[in-house]
Amino acid sequence: MRVTSCGITDVGLKRSHNEDNFLINEELNLYVVADGMGGHNGGEYASAICVNTVEEIVENMELGDAVPVEEDDPVDLVREKLRYALRLSGRRIYEKAAESPEFHGMGTTAVALLIDAGNAFVAHVGDSRLYLVREDTVQQVTEDHSFVARQVKAGALTEEQAKSHRMRNVIYRSLGYQEDVEVDVQVLALRKGDRFLLCSDGLSGHLEEFEIFDHLKNHAPQEASRRMIDLACERGGDDNITVVVALVDEVP
Ligand code: CA
Repeated sequence: MRVTSCGITDVGLKRSHNEDNFLINEELNLYVVADGMGGHNGGEYASAICVNTVEEIVENMELGDAVPVEEDDPVDLVREKLRYALRLSGRRIYEKAAESPEFHGMGTTAVALLIDAGNAFVAHVGDSRLYLVREDTVQQVTEDHSFVARQVKAGALTEEQAKSHRMRNVIYRSLGYQEDVEVDVQVLALRKGDRFLLCSDGLSGHLEEFEIFDHLKNHAPQEASRRMIDLACERGGDDNITVVVALVDEVP
């Protein structure tokens, strides 16, 4: 397995500080983007707890009593471990918020990609996204846990209407607001040449899908990341912007 990756986070043009965090661990082939919320530095604290917890669990944890898995299927084990990592990060954020009033109400969205044995494990909560560029297609793999995404699915809003809707930032699932949260995890069989983008809504709110496709298809991860951040800034940069791009050069 060989993966080339790059991650950049940028405060954008309108915010005074950056509440996003990201992680690239090339030994684990683990990639995470988290977009925190909450005053008094709570947002960046929550997103930092998230990326650190996910790394800690994926790196160190032997699945045992904490995560009951029915069978010894290695794919099940990795999937449940990643799910547990995000759930535990939510619990830690919740507990920190409960013990210090200054962090009350902090939380974060998160998307994580773990590449293992020919599979891509994708876990998410909230509206941080993962896109897959494969051959001549681009696909948004994660489905936002947001009010507008639900309305689009129900046919009550079009994609275009959702983009400018006054409730476009309202999410109904995130890490840290409750003690436990449901985490969506998907497993995709990898193909050589697959390109992944993990991003916060500061990026996806400003770029069209075809633009994400063009950047990932035509540029190496570092160049693609820089250009997409610049484009989001040119279009207002009203939020923090984070991208992680991973290109799968070889599949075993
Ligand atoms: Ca954001």
